[in-house]
Amino acid sequence: MLDDAGLQPLREAARLSPDNLPLRQLLANQLLAKGYLAEAEAEFRAALVLAPKDVNITMGLAEAFVRQSAHGAALAALEPFLVTPGYPPPMGVIAARALLAEGDVAAAAYRYHEAVSRDPSVADAALATRLAAPPVTPSAPAHPAAYTTPAPSPSPYATPAPPYTTPAPSASPYATPAPSASSASPYTPSAPPAPAYGTGAQRPAPPDRANAEVERSGTTFADVAGMEAVKEALRVKLLLPVQQPELFAAFGKRAGGGVLLYGPPGGGKTHLARAAAGELGASFVNVGLADILDMYIGSSERNLRSTFEMARRNRPCVLFFDEVDALAARRSDMRQAHNRQLVNQFLAELDGVDQNANEGVLVLAATNAPWYIDVAFRRPGRFDQLVFVPPPDASARAAILRILCRDKPLAEMDFDAVARVTEHFVGADLKGVVDRAVEAKLHQSISAGRAIPLETPDLLAAAQAARPTSVREWFGTARNYVMHANDSGAWDELMPWIKGGKGKW
Ligand code: ADP
Repeated sequence: MLDDAGLQPLREAARLSPDNLPLRQLLANQLLAKGYLAEAEAEFRAALVLAPKDVNITMGLAEAFVRQSAHGAALAALEPFLVTPGYPPPMGVIAARALLAEGDVAAAAYRYHEAVSRDPSVADAALATRLAAPPVTPSAPAHPAAYTTPAPSPSPYATPAPPYTTPAPSASPYATPAPSASSASPYTPSAPPAPAYGTGAQRPAPPDRANAEVERSGTTFADVAGMEAVKEALRVKLLLPVQQPELFAAFGKRAGGGVLLYGPPGGGKTHLARAAAGELGASFVNVGLADILDMYIGSSERNLRSTFEMARRNRPCVLFFDEVDALAARRSDMRQAHNRQLVNQFLAELDGVDQNANEGVLVLAATNAPWYIDVAFRRPGRFDQLVFVPPPDASARAAILRILCRDKPLAEMDFDAVARVTEHFVGADLKGVVDRAVEAKLHQSISAGRAIPLETPDLLAAAQAARPTSVREWFGTARNYVMHANDSGAWDELMPWIKGGKGKW
């Protein structure tokens, strides 16, 4: 395997010869092996454009998806091959890992054992152990298609009989085929036949209550460094209509509609949303996936409804949905009706039963993957404004560091110097740098028996030891998605970054 330095010439060569398929494949495989997953994904996609039905490239792409927890995308990529008997056994193992992550243990076990029976060298002891273990309730998934319902676990709500709501066998290539007498697979599922991929279970309806909590936000825009354009967009869209309703009425504009913040992870989207609530003196409800997604059919929709109702009871309220791509994914990408129902429920809640239903409820959402979101969410009154939250430039990094250090004992600091050595760091990375430096200083202070103030070299040393999160990879993926899909102008804000007008990413 090449080292990181060895990758660079390969990247360069692929850039200069974009149509050289073996080169692109080599680069993609090396990136995958080195763990540059988003970049590997982009390279495999580019290679697939050159060789659309190549089985090895598809497997590489699926592997990159699985390792990024995009299990639904992995299965969608493998689907055309899995329907044909005799597909490569390693593909069966990749499919098994994705299926297991999505909770379809039976189909995963079938794929795995079928693959191993054809080629024992693909056996993976850890995976086999997990397939044999009793199913557990998964935690919140990282990808829209990944919240499919697993086999029922011993929940107090579980009904004793097999509670699948879709008993008819599915045509999905992931479904476990009925075991045949001649099957060589050592895995013979006992009755009942395994549920179709992602089949859900039912339970008696629990009482309606929201899982998320109402906060009072202590932060305001003064706590958000830089990002002036983003703050201005939020001011006009969310704050002014509430603060100066007469002005808006005079121009025939109503308050309403939400804002979708998108950008690389750790870029400060949640921080901004919380600050917007503080700025307005509104309550803040931070809704995570785990607050909504539930393995039982109908429960996720109920959780969503209760969450909106809680926000309406606490107006004025900023209702913030993090990782919203999992709740608002394109319905065309979904293979299961009940996932589509959740999207429909979300749209209905955003629209409200009447014009005034969401008065005083300001809906904000954040995503690292805006391209997964169903376009229906972008209609007026819904998330009708897309706001790009860019990574900070040097002066914004210095400002973020200043804010992060402001309540610490400080010597005279040169934040600009630290900003210069933290190129490609986002807010979350800078917070990591400050936390690390403070911790080291605390140890020194304890030994000395007095508070020793933080100095510039402390931050420089912590920055040197840190690596930025995957902002560059994020731009690689973004480039891949939006370059050829900006007809509506939805990605205009992002384009200068993708095209190099904002430095090299
Ligand atoms: P995201 O929601 O985009 O993943 P977060 O909002 O969780 O990112 O950011 C992580 C942390 O980074 C925040 O809690 C905050 O401390 C810090 N941070 C990010 N951006 C800024 C900023 N512009 N000003 C001050 N702190 C910031």
